Amino acid sequence: MGTKEIIKRCEQLHEDTHFTAAREWKAAQDGRKVIGYLPVYVPEEIIHAAGMLPLGISGGGDQMEVIHGDAYYQSYICRIPRSTIELGITGRLDFVDGMIFPSICDVIRNLSGMWKLQFPDVYVRYLDVPQNYKDDVGGEFYQSEMRELLKGLEGLSGHKVSDDDIRNSIKVYNINRELMRKLYQLRSDEPWTVPTMELYLLSRAGLMLPVEEHNQMLEDYLAASAEEEERPRRDNCRVVINGSFCEQPPLGLIKSIELAGCYIVDDDYVQINRWLKEAVPEEGDPFAALASAFLHQSADTAAKYAETEELVGKQLLESVSENRAEGVIFAAPSFCDPALLWRPMLADKVGEKNIPHISFKYAENSGQMAPIREQAGTFADSIKLWS
Ligand code: SF4
Repeated sequence: MGTKEIIKRCEQLHEDTHFTAAREWKAAQDGRKVIGYLPVYVPEEIIHAAGMLPLGISGGGDQMEVIHGDAYYQSYICRIPRSTIELGITGRLDFVDGMIFPSICDVIRNLSGMWKLQFPDVYVRYLDVPQNYKDDVGGEFYQSEMRELLKGLEGLSGHKVSDDDIRNSIKVYNINRELMRKLYQLRSDEPWTVPTMELYLLSRAGLMLPVEEHNQMLEDYLAASAEEEERPRRDNCRVVINGSFCEQPPLGLIKSIELAGCYIVDDDYVQINRWLKEAVPEEGDPFAALASAFLHQSADTAAKYAETEELVGKQLLESVSENRAEGVIFAAPSFCDPALLWRPMLADKVGEKNIPHISFKYAENSGQMAPIREQAGTFADSIKLWS
């Protein structure tokens, strides 16, 4: 299969707000359960070990009209909770047996409460994550959160899950993370070989498919892209995207940035696939291994507590340097408190290093791309002319 066919399949998955692939997975065997989760990160290994399908819910995208969802939230918040409620009310998630709402922000916290009221038959869990990075404090706390989650899932399935089951799941997800890292590295090395649109769609497919199938898809794409004719190189400038870790931008926005003359060489889209930056140990206590990975090797976003001011922006600066980026584009969802509160601090950090940067906001259903194309195009030109 060539890269075109693989990306076509990813596009179909991306556009399908009825989650047909997950419905089919569930229908293929009696007793299967699907557990939805919201961005940014949940320990998918625990869900997988329980024999269930983790299904990433990233709102309704730009194709779905939100009618009921607006009644549940005030107008001055981001769109993802409203479109997620819309998915629920319209029956698009009626096959989902449980929902996990990780601790990202107040909006997601409130959404978990709403889900409990609105869908009382669905298992709902608000998953707290550590805000203390000591193994014997935050680590212990997070281990107990994961054990509670597992207990809930065992209750749902009626089956006990062993530590070996979790270690096996860690192995499969380690492969997935490694493949995603390879793809990101390839895009950074040769951005013309892996356009961000394709990388993004491949990553989004991971929210919908069983991890084994996603691993195969990533391997197939890497193999196919190595065999295909080299794509044309452009004289684009290299940029890092920051702030898009939760509500996802419409595809048109990503395409517009690339068409405006920018090669995206790193980003924080679909964080869950790269949240843990190194392989999780496959031996020993699996809860301790997952907790330690969260504490010591997870990605930085505004949705994760930063222990000291020095840590804010550290990974962004490292990314700029490692990926030889010439600028940073801060692109955050409108009304996203975490991303927009961090943005001035991050802008200061990159400003201190004389790294050019611009900022704009979007919604998952933003339609007008001309202003973004013009802004990104001017940014790219200014870097080429004056940096
Ligand atoms: S987009 Fe921002 S404010 Fe909205 S749910 Fe996500 S993190 Fe919270």
